[in-house]
Amino acid sequence: MSGKFVGDKHLLFSLEGEDLMDTKSLENFRKILLERRMELQTDLQRKSNEEAGQDRLETMDTADQADSNYTADYNIKIKEILVREVREIDEALEKMRNGDYGICESCDEEIPEGRLKARPNARFCIRCKDEMEKRGSVK
Ligand SMILES: [Zn+2]
Repeated sequence: MSGKFVGDKHLLFSLEGEDLMDTKSLENFRKILLERRMELQTDLQRKSNEEAGQDRLETMDTADQADSNYTADYNIKIKEILVREVREIDEALEKMRNGDYGICESCDEEIPEGRLKARPNARFCIRCKDEMEKRGSVK
């Protein structure tokens, strides 16, 4: 029942037309997302290579080992952030295929193009994002 309502609401948006993102902007965002995704994949690959290199360093004194552990922890955190962003980009690309791109996942309102330009994989409008940050559910 509620699913049908959401569908009708989107249909209304496309009938109104003028505020809907045009194909050219959408294509542009797709390009930005794909380029960003490539960058992230390259970074991830480089981090993996760095780790493989560290494993081969066998003779180290304790201080070096502590340094190396710190670097490994840091690398894991960076990789987590990169992997998460790749996943968000994949979700955004999936939304483009479904025609849901640029719609806030929380309130169903359109996310302004200005915000998408700053963060093309944004899932929420600024208002919902602010509210979530206040509640502490998004860090
Ligand atoms: Zn929202």
